[in-house]
Amino acid sequence: MNEPRSVLLVEDQHDIAANIWDFLERRGYRVDHAADGEAGMAAALRGNFDVIVLDLGLPRLDGLDLCRRLRESDRRTPVLMLTARDTLDDKLRGFAEGADDYLVKPFALAELEARIRAVYRRGRISPDAPLVVGDLRYNPSTLRATRQGRDIELTRAQSVILHQLMQHSPQVLTHQALITAVWGEEGGDPAALHTHVYELRKAVDRPFGEALIRSVHGIGYRLEKD
Ligand code: CA
Repeated sequence: MNEPRSVLLVEDQHDIAANIWDFLERRGYRVDHAADGEAGMAAALRGNFDVIVLDLGLPRLDGLDLCRRLRESDRRTPVLMLTARDTLDDKLRGFAEGADDYLVKPFALAELEARIRAVYRRGRISPDAPLVVGDLRYNPSTLRATRQGRDIELTRAQSVILHQLMQHSPQVLTHQALITAVWGEEGGDPAALHTHVYELRKAVDRPFGEALIRSVHGIGYRLEKD
């Protein structure tokens, strides 16, 4: 996808958050909102958002700390930081902690959207960047998966399925989309897919107590942390 569709908005000022949320939803974005830094951090780790719009001054965990912790956990989601002040110091600290761009309040909502699109395009996650959902990591360049730090052995088909599900988390992928990803346009069938997903769950979910791979009856699968 070339355009960002999902935004995590971390902003404690209710009126500003409501304005941004309304505007982005009307423009077709799926918006999740968190009103403090810790809730924002939890949401950022739970889903693969296209862009995070992050206020600098937040209760519980400020925007700079959130950004640093996000980067420490290997999340590359582009971050657009919002601040009330335009001091060079804030800007430098923001970039040092991994923010991708900066917008000073007050701003026009159209400008916000333009910046969201720009950081998304610039920050398009490289195809080889590790994917992380909860405690599960998958590195497409090495085809290695780990959960809770333990290595997980995967077959080629399993790694393709896991890659697709993690890349699109928490969206549902249809059976057909996964079949095409594994076998191309010509091959594969639902029974073979179900077998691979069954084995994948045995490797990725069963030893770890918490299931991440979910069946969506009659449609497909998705991967999400609660
Ligand atoms: Ca604030």
